[in-house]
Amino acid sequence: MAERVIGVTGGIGSGKSSVMRAFQAKGIEAVDADDMARVVVEPGQPALKAIAEHFGPDILTPDGTLDRPTLRAIIFTDPDAKTWLEALLHPLINRELRSRLAAARGPYALLVSPLLFETGQDKLVDRILVVDVPESLQLARASARDGADPEQIQRIMASQMSRAERLKRADDLLDNTGSLVDLEKRVEELHRGYLAFAGQ
Ligand code: ADP
Repeated sequence: MAERVIGVTGGIGSGKSSVMRAFQAKGIEAVDADDMARVVVEPGQPALKAIAEHFGPDILTPDGTLDRPTLRAIIFTDPDAKTWLEALLHPLINRELRSRLAAARGPYALLVSPLLFETGQDKLVDRILVVDVPESLQLARASARDGADPEQIQRIMASQMSRAERLKRADDLLDNTGSLVDLEKRVEELHRGYLAFAGQ
């Protein structure tokens, strides 16, 4: 088990995955909350059955997997459906995160999550790193990455905690407005700090 867990958060397109990869390149293990959100609704998982019962069988694709775009469309327009889904999934995701973090090795491990505060996952971490860029850059980078229309990215941004609120809760900050080389330099600095934090 890792000595310490660092929570890495930031809005869509801020650079969380890029930061995670830079730490992984240093041998640090990371658990990605988005991956766990997919794991808990895989075929055969109780959550998928509950979702199909709640929303009806049309929420599944013909091969029995979750039809994500349809579910996303429902929860964007129906706040009750969103509340129901979150109440179902967040505890399952958090349980999965806890068990993966317990299995992580090394001086410290990362929990990477876009919704660290919104889901109570901040309680699983010892320290919080916020990856930050101005909203215009978030929008530009996320749209370029996903080939999605900016309006859809903006909707996701609106559903996430505000930049100001997130920054208030940061222990550490990675300003990702610069290049990927700048990002790596900042990760190196943070890595040294986290090794010291973990008593290494
Ligand atoms: P997140 O995981 O927070 O949604 P990503 O790490 O996927 O964000 O970054 C969003 C996009 O921006 C990706 O295509 C990534 O390659 C790119 N990106 C991230 N950081 C930088 C940077 N410092 N300079 C240029 N592009 C970047």
